Amino acid sequence: MSDERRKLIAGNWKMNGLVDTSVMEIKDLAARASKIDTPACDILICPPATLLREMARISLDSPVQIGGQDCHPNEKGAHTGDISAEMVKDAGGKFCIVGHSERRADHGESNETVRAKAEAAHRTGLIAIVCVGETLEERDAGKTLDVITDQVRNSLPAAATAANTVIAYEPVWAIGTGKTPTADDVKAVHAHIRKDLAGLMNDSGRVRLLYGGSVKGSNAAELMAVENVDGALVGGASLKAEDFWPIVNTCI
Ligand code: PEP
Repeated sequence: MSDERRKLIAGNWKMNGLVDTSVMEIKDLAARASKIDTPACDILICPPATLLREMARISLDSPVQIGGQDCHPNEKGAHTGDISAEMVKDAGGKFCIVGHSERRADHGESNETVRAKAEAAHRTGLIAIVCVGETLEERDAGKTLDVITDQVRNSLPAAATAANTVIAYEPVWAIGTGKTPTADDVKAVHAHIRKDLAGLMNDSGRVRLLYGGSVKGSNAAELMAVENVDGALVGGASLKAEDFWPIVNTCI
């Protein structure tokens, strides 16, 4: 079976966006994407939960897909402030990010919690984008590959496949800092993940591996050309269509 992988350029809006400006940006992005006959990559925006439904409605007839930034492991119940994978799907989501380093840090999410959230995404038919990445201290201590191995092995559900799971490698020290690893460093980590996945999944060669951390228009082409990099998870540069589009354009 061919290991050809369709690239995915995903935007994570984090806790940014009110209705008026977000409607403008998603319309702009959808219009740009709709001008491309057959886009060669998937385009995804993960807005805050309050905007999911509206962004999904506006982008419905365009190549832009919508996803959640997180989901609770349970389908429903007494979990004030949380949203379930079913709710993300009900609002029009197709993907759900789980285990972003900001959730791991701000909410103390363990690999086991992340795995339960990925399982919830799968339960409802969402594609889980499972995030992994080392901190600066871990990197400086030479532990990057060990940390990544531990996160990948313990955050992925047993039933993960290339169809229901994407992995995003996001060095924590590169997120929102303007710093990026060298292309060689990214290549080494992605090769390591690819190799490790072979022991975990039958279709490991087809799993998409994204790079995330300070991707912008000026560095996207170099990063997207790295072996085993199948797309990007983009924070700051995804908030405005005019900044996000040059990144999408490297793959389209
Ligand atoms: C992110 O939040 O996943 C991210 C990669 O952010 P930024 O692109 O702003 O570094």
